[in-house]
Amino acid sequence: MKSTNQLLLANKAWAKEKVETSPNFFTNLAKGQNPRFLWIGCSDSRVPADQITNTEPGEIFVHRNVANMVVHTDLNLLSVLQYAVEVLKVEHVMVVGHYGCGGVLASMQSQHLGLINKWLRNIKEVYRLNREELDGISDEVARGNRLVELNIVEQVFNLAKTSIIQKSWNTTHKPTIHGWVYGMEDGILKELVQMDNTSELDPVFKFDF
Ligand SMILES: [Zn+2]
Repeated sequence: MKSTNQLLLANKAWAKEKVETSPNFFTNLAKGQNPRFLWIGCSDSRVPADQITNTEPGEIFVHRNVANMVVHTDLNLLSVLQYAVEVLKVEHVMVVGHYGCGGVLASMQSQHLGLINKWLRNIKEVYRLNREELDGISDEVARGNRLVELNIVEQVFNLAKTSIIQKSWNTTHKPTIHGWVYGMEDGILKELVQMDNTSELDPVFKFDF
């Protein structure tokens, strides 16, 4: 197990290497950011946005929470989304989940887990919406992985329901929103769903702009 001192030492070595390769690396980054992507991912330590997409600092604006949720009362997520869409004008927003997600698996159990019950309840609603399909999968791992996928798709719909995304779709800036799933066992990202300003949205969720 690494100590925090080792992390600080590794950071110094990393910064030195960056400057050796590109002398203006940090001075250019310090001038500001212009990322094209917003990543809404799971907090799981095995799914780091920049490493698995081989991107550099400055390329992806990131928000992570347990099980990559888009919850309409989450001021943290909504603030990140508004800033990314309206100020940074990102071109793509990705909801990125992963197979074997501990948050999703916990939502399938009845165990009382304390405060996180309230967060996991949002995933339980996704189970309820898809009960027939999920109950038909006898293998527990396969059922969990299918719920991972369905949860990602539902969070993309939740993004489309926000006034932030709908407003942006009514201006010249029209970001595309994506649902991606990451395979822990092969390191591969796969697209499950994509929505843009031409996508159908249930009228009950539509705002007038
Ligand atoms: Zn997870």
